[in-house]
Amino acid sequence: MAEKIKKREEISEEYKWNVKDLCASDEEWNKLFDSAMREIKKLAEFKGKLESENNTGKFGEVLLDCLKAKDKAGRLTETAYVYANLRLNENSANSVYQAMSGKADNLVTVYFSACSFIEPEILSASEEIIINALESVSELKIYQHYIEDILRSKEHILPAEQEEILARTNEMAQAPDNIFGMLNNADLKFDDIKDEKGNIVPLTHGKYISYLESADRNVRKQAFESCYKAYFKQKNTLAAIYNASVKKDVFFSKIRKYNSSLEASLFSTNIPVEVYKNLIAAVNKFLPLMHRYIDIRKKKLNLDELHMYDLYTPIVKEANTKMPYEKAKEIIVKALEPMGKEYVEELKNGLEGGWIDIYENEGKRSGAYAWGAYGCHPYVSLNYDGTINSMFTLVHEMGHAMHSHYTWSNQPYVYGDYTIFVAEVASTVNEALLMEYLLKTTTDKNARAYLINYFLEQFRGTLFRQTMFAEFELITHELSEKGETLTFDSLCKIYRELNIKYFGDGIVIDEEIDREWSRIPHFYNAFYVYQYATGYSAAISLSRKILNENGAENYIKFLKGGSSEYSIDLLKTAGVDMSVSKPIEDAMEVFKGLLDKIE
Ligand SMILES: [Zn+2]
Repeated sequence: MAEKIKKREEISEEYKWNVKDLCASDEEWNKLFDSAMREIKKLAEFKGKLESENNTGKFGEVLLDCLKAKDKAGRLTETAYVYANLRLNENSANSVYQAMSGKADNLVTVYFSACSFIEPEILSASEEIIINALESVSELKIYQHYIEDILRSKEHILPAEQEEILARTNEMAQAPDNIFGMLNNADLKFDDIKDEKGNIVPLTHGKYISYLESADRNVRKQAFESCYKAYFKQKNTLAAIYNASVKKDVFFSKIRKYNSSLEASLFSTNIPVEVYKNLIAAVNKFLPLMHRYIDIRKKKLNLDELHMYDLYTPIVKEANTKMPYEKAKEIIVKALEPMGKEYVEELKNGLEGGWIDIYENEGKRSGAYAWGAYGCHPYVSLNYDGTINSMFTLVHEMGHAMHSHYTWSNQPYVYGDYTIFVAEVASTVNEALLMEYLLKTTTDKNARAYLINYFLEQFRGTLFRQTMFAEFELITHELSEKGETLTFDSLCKIYRELNIKYFGDGIVIDEEIDREWSRIPHFYNAFYVYQYATGYSAAISLSRKILNENGAENYIKFLKGGSSEYSIDLLKTAGVDMSVSKPIEDAMEVFKGLLDKIE
């Protein structure tokens, strides 16, 4: 029997985070809320001023005051929002914090709507006036990258009247995503399946992957077939929704004068189109390694035929190693030693200093995350369960937390965040260093095999699978840009060919897998998933540099960078250039090494 989940009060304080470091009490929060509102009002008073001064010598000073007001209001809003939600996440049933979080949501909306005039009014000024302002008002220098980033979009902004019409299409443009969400989450029904014990059990989105991981092949097969049967029943609807979504992307990219929908999507973070195409080309070059992995999998699972539903089940039994939290902490500190003394000291502070909420309690938010607000230390929420996996989760989330910690200690508020493109680098580098340490120190054969399998699966799921997704998105958008309509059959054909290419002929490409495209929610946020693959290869490549080339120093510089430069440039500081294929080659080299080991 599973142990009963504890109530939050039953857990000793030493295992909980210290939210009071962020805001001393609920009473203090009310004061914080009020002062945030006051500062937002002050910010709103700048509306119209930038535009009315956009031709005068006073523009620079007004802009500086406005941006300072924005930061002040932003910091207070962020602190209030994070406190309310950390509290709510401790126990989502707590009605005091439900109400507080509702108020905080509203505060954020008010803040963002108060900010909405800033970018258009900055863009109303001529480049000359802005350059002049940056030169004459010295304090404005801090904001230079921020301002230049706004100016970058100038050529894609339309005349005011057209912009207004476009703004009104926003909700309609969300339709494909919303409709897919409704169909996928509410209306789609899966047939029940029989579990390992022969019980009839429902198939749900949440359970799907765990059934595919089952050691019982019949369970995997049923889950796979039941899943795709449900999507097949809606085939024309699903194709129509996806076609509409791609058309929407193409429409907006053309209206805003981009060369392609890919370019439009990558523009916001200033990622060159080559980075995307280079990823696909480089991974394609290494597909024989994936085919080799498939052969190994078939052999280890002892199957005559490997099917698509045999991809997720571990090829090694889980090592029954118990990993108590205290021991995990010790291991992590040792594993991250190559990062250098300073990192390790800061990490230890974090592990002991009220950052982490370790154990599950009744009502606590599931999963794990790192979060926080500028000006305080970061927070990490876990549901630590004493497995090797939860040790990896701890080191992963501490990677995010240390990234925030370094950024917040070294950047002004305006650059205190970082993009998705770089976010998973910090967490994955930590995981890779831990993996390396464990492989070096583990002698038990099965435990080692388990670790290698875990690592191989990360490569398959993150580097290969997400790149295949990225390639699919590129093909579908390019077809749509040529005026072709995407139908169920044509989408399945594209997807099947990709599967054949990526997995090779060592596996049976079941007909069901042709429909996988129709169940991926991320496809409604086009050109997003490639960042998992680029981030992963950057991280693996950096972990090698840290271990073998004393690369820690440059890596720490990257952690300190926040969003003070574009993501590509920040990664160059760290030591990887994502516009060439080297980082992907480095990562593949590691993958190859793992294949050699497991064989
Ligand atoms: Zn993460």
